[in-house]
Order: sequence, then C-alpha cells, then structure tokens
Amino acid sequence: MVSRVIPVDPFDLVVFGGTGDLAQRKILPALFRRHCDEQLPDGARIIGAARSDLTRESYQALVAEALQTHCGAVAPEQLARFLDRVLYLRVDATDPAGWQALTQELGKPRQDRVRVFYFSVGPSLFAPLAEQIWAHELADDQTRIVVEKPFGHDLASARALNQTLASHFDESQIYRIDHYLGKETVQNLMAIRFGNMLFEPLWNSQYVDHIQITVAETVGVGGREAYYDKSGAMRDMMQNHLMQLLCLIAMEPPAKFDPDAVRDEKLKVIRALEPVEPHHIVRGQYVAPSGATGSDLTYRETVGAPRSTTESYVALKAHISNWRWAGTPFYLRTGKRLVARSSVINVFFKDAPHSIFGADAGRHANLLTIRLQPDEGITLKVTIKEPGPGGMRLMDVPLDMSFAQALGDNIHGAPDAYERLITDVIRGNQTLFMRGDEVEAAWAWTDPIIAGWTSRGDVPKPYDSGSTGPGDADLLMRRDQRDWRGINP
Ligand code: NAP
Repeated sequence: MVSRVIPVDPFDLVVFGGTGDLAQRKILPALFRRHCDEQLPDGARIIGAARSDLTRESYQALVAEALQTHCGAVAPEQLARFLDRVLYLRVDATDPAGWQALTQELGKPRQDRVRVFYFSVGPSLFAPLAEQIWAHELADDQTRIVVEKPFGHDLASARALNQTLASHFDESQIYRIDHYLGKETVQNLMAIRFGNMLFEPLWNSQYVDHIQITVAETVGVGGREAYYDKSGAMRDMMQNHLMQLLCLIAMEPPAKFDPDAVRDEKLKVIRALEPVEPHHIVRGQYVAPSGATGSDLTYRETVGAPRSTTESYVALKAHISNWRWAGTPFYLRTGKRLVARSSVINVFFKDAPHSIFGADAGRHANLLTIRLQPDEGITLKVTIKEPGPGGMRLMDVPLDMSFAQALGDNIHGAPDAYERLITDVIRGNQTLFMRGDEVEAAWAWTDPIIAGWTSRGDVPKPYDSGSTGPGDADLLMRRDQRDWRGINP
C-alpha cells in the first residue's frame, strides 16, 4: 500500500514572521518535507518576511539551520534545491516602508499561481497585515490567508478579529489553523465513525454511557510563560483542541466530506453544549511534589508570578442537548506536567440490559479506546468466557490495533499536521480549518466559565507535577459513580 503524492499547484507563500519560532520549527520544516516528497511544483516560492535585517543568503542560512535541527538527516542536494525556492524580504506589518519590495517581488495576483499569506506573527499584527495587503493590492478573491492560534482571547476579541479579517477577505479565503485537526489520527476519527457501519448505530445516548476525552502533557509552561499565564488551560487547550475532538466525536454525519458540510455539523455540537455548572469543573495548578527539585516543577515559579491563579489543568463534565446525546456526559480533561503524554478518547458503552450469566459474572461493558498519541490506534474491550472449567465466568479482553503495527511505514511516512494543513491551504480545502462562527461559538461557551471563576475568586487546586492531576477531578467522577481511565496509554 503506497500513498499517492499529488503535486500542488504553483504558489507563492509569504510567511510573515518567517524568522520566528513557529516558522523555523514547524512551517518551513513542513514545506521542506513536502518538497522532498516532490509535492511542491517547480517555481513554487516561499518568501520569509519579518523586520530583521537579513539578506536572502543569511535567511537561507537560518532556514538551513532550522531544517537541519528539525528534519533529521537532510540530504545536501535536497536542501540546496529547497533553498532555491526561499527568498527573504524585510517587511514591517506596521510600517509601509518594506511593502514596495514585496509588491515588486509578487506582482499582481495571477490566476495561474496560488497566493498565500501566512500570518505567523502575534494576533495584534493580523489587522495591520490585512490592511497593508489590501492597500498594496497584493490580494484578489483567490488569495488565501492563514491565521495562527490563539484566535482571540474571548468572544469579543474573536468577533473583532473576525470582523477585521472579514472587511478585507471573504470567509472562503481565511484559514484558521488548529494544528490538532491536521493530525492523521484526528482525521481518522471521522473515518472510524463514518466509514464503519459497526459503530454508528450504537453512537448515541441509548448505548453510550459516557465519553472521556483526555489530552495530557508532561511538559510545563516553560518557554511560553507570559502568554500562558494570561491564557491558561481553558483558553489554550479546552476552547480549541478538546472542543474540536468533542465535535468530531459527537457530530452528526455530514452529507459529504466537504468543508462547509463538516463545519456545519461541528458548529451544531458547540451550539448544543449546555453551560457548565461550577461544580462540574475542576481547575488545577502544578506544584513540585514534596522533596522534589528541578526547574519548571512549580507553575508559579516558572511563570514568575507567586500569586498566579491561572490553571494549568482543567477537567469538566459537559452535556450536549440534542436527541443523540441527551443524558450522556462528556468528561474532558487536559493539563500540563502530568504523569504521561497522551491524547485519548474513551467511549464507554452501557452494560447489557440483562445479564443471562447471573450476578457472579460481574458487570462487563464494552469500551472503545481511540488513541491519538502516542502509539495511535484503537482498542475495543470485549467480553468473553474465561477459558477453562469452572462454569460460565466472564472476562474482558482487548481487541487491540496499533496503527503503527498494522500500517507499518505508511503511518510513519504520513505527513505531519502542518504538512497536511499547508498543502490543504494551497489546494483551497478548508475542511480542516475552523470557520469564524465555530470559533465564536466555542468562545461563547467558554467565556461564562472563565467569568464565573473570576467573579467567585476561584483559585486552582494544587496537584503534584508528574501526577494525574488534582484529587478533585477524581471526585468529579466518583460523584457520578465513575472513574477516569488511566492517563498512561
Ligand atoms: P515569535 O518566535 O515571537 O516570532 C514572531 C515573528 O514575528 C518573528 O519572525 C518576528 O520577526 C515577526 N514580527 C514581529 N513583529 C513584526 C512586525 N511588526 N512586522 C513583521 N514581522 C514581525 O512567535 P512564534 O512562536 O513564531 O508565534 C507566531 C504566531 O504563531 C503567534 O501568533 C503564536 O501565538 C502562534 N503559535 C505559535 C506556536 C509555536 O509553537 N511557536 C504554536 C501555535 C501558535 P522580527 O522580529 O524579525 O520582525
């Protein structure tokens, strides 16, 4: 089984913030890997743009270093061919000075060449960039812009950002990236749900007891202290990544795999979310376990704010008010400095309505586990007879499929999230990008939760670095006679 590589159309991709961390670590390596797979056509150009005083040669040297750091072994001839595509221009988003050179380099938009502006800069520069692009007539109705997260800080700022972009670009031209949606396994959620007859008839509150979504990280907030302390886990992870996973797990089947059909269904899920009761949510903040020493083990020390009340962990119980899910709780949790790095969705099915094997057989229910990372795969826990004599005793065994084992090199060779998303932008496919109304709906659900914390003076519960999170998150489950599935995959 060999995956096909279909070259994209010729393009000019301008990376504003081309000297920044994201460009160097993700965007340029992603483009380089697509180049190595022969997916970039001859003549495709990548134009780094930032304020730094660099020549084309010194920028190419910077890019070469980034690729050598982030792409493993880099073949010199591949690198040289890739660097031939790379230009650099000094452009300040807030100053018209450098824009003439960019205008000269790009020329008028052309029908036979896709033009993309990637805004890999802080959100305060999105509006100035959009304005300069229009003032210099660098865009037409085929031009695309890519906007990085965070998309707003709350509903008001997201709405303002949407309005600013909408005053220059049509929604069909705006690609809001949530790199989670570009992950192979996240897209696989749709394939699993809508490509198999097996699951869909059971995918509702009649058969599903509850669903758990966990995105656990072992890293702390080091390196992003200032941003994170203003944001916290609710804004940084729950409002976007976990919300997107929830949408993909809970949405109705779209009529076709088409951008607006998929996004319409996701939007309906977000809009059907009930407000979260204060006692259905737990916030945590990591602290060093007693006796432990080491950098970045205590949140407040790391961010340099001894009284910070920003959460590095959040767990909550959500309900979706629609026919499919009424009465089925969705438990979502995410945190930093936890015991393991894992993203996993557990779908707990209900017990059989009547056990023909009697009380001694115990309670047995099916559990579908979808592992997004690490070791992507699916496990279905099924009940069988315990082998041997001694009557009809039951036991649960896993039907386990690791995609790495089943698909071998095809999964390792699969493009990473940024590779897929950037090629989707060039192809003009918005399916894996968030629409403006989706982002606003997600903030509309998130804002009251955060406002509630502020008005109640809520302080996050401490939890030990390297643990599974605050004990109150376990209580949240126990009150419902349930338990979290272990974080360790
Ligand atoms: P960064 O390392 O601080 O880079 C910012 C870039 O913007 C630099 O290239 C900087 O170059 C350029 N810049 C700053 N002011 C400018 C101006 N007035 N005109 C033109 N260019 C300007 O930030 P980053 O980590 O790459 O993040 C970029 C964006 O991606 C942010 O919105 C961030 O939230 C988002 N993001 C980042 C990550 C990540 O892992 N890094 C992940 C998700 C989202 P000069 O100083 O040379 O101008």
